[in-house]
Amino acid sequence: MAFRHAEDPHITSDNWIHAGVLVLNASYEALTEINAERAVVLLLSGTAETVSDRRPEFPIRSKHVEIALPETIRLTRYVYLEHRVLVHDESRATLPAVLRRDRYRCGYCSGWARTVDHIRPRSRGGPNTWANLIAACGPCNSRKADRTPEEAGMRLLWEPKAPDELAKRQRQIWKDLAAAG
Ligand SMILES: [Zn+2]
Repeated sequence: MAFRHAEDPHITSDNWIHAGVLVLNASYEALTEINAERAVVLLLSGTAETVSDRRPEFPIRSKHVEIALPETIRLTRYVYLEHRVLVHDESRATLPAVLRRDRYRCGYCSGWARTVDHIRPRSRGGPNTWANLIAACGPCNSRKADRTPEEAGMRLLWEPKAPDELAKRQRQIWKDLAAAG
């Protein structure tokens, strides 16, 4: 899932419908991210209200209304939903993002890592997901080669997981609410 501002391209009339919008429950708990097209439907039907507009402002015009492209919306009624996360362990991850998550530490020896290891090897269908990728130094990566950690007699120092973006954004929401008094 495209995850957000820094990497978001310029919003245009062609791509705005794909922009990510954070959905809060009526209780201000962050629920999930949806695309702007769905978010606008929720706003126009009164199911949700805008909490914050996207910056820089981007107006969406339909026949009868003009609204600003939202960044965050809030459901007007509390909805019970199972916990959902924006990014989960089985989401695809990129090499630089995995290195950042692991702070450039090798998951096998905690040395300086500049490569990423597929825990279940790619040659055996190991996916490019947060849970299957870990930062690794060159020596550990070549020692492990096309084997699982067990086969190579190597042990992971921590369990790789998706970064908890939802929790991060939730903290920001509580902060903004507190600041708004
Ligand atoms: Zn290492």
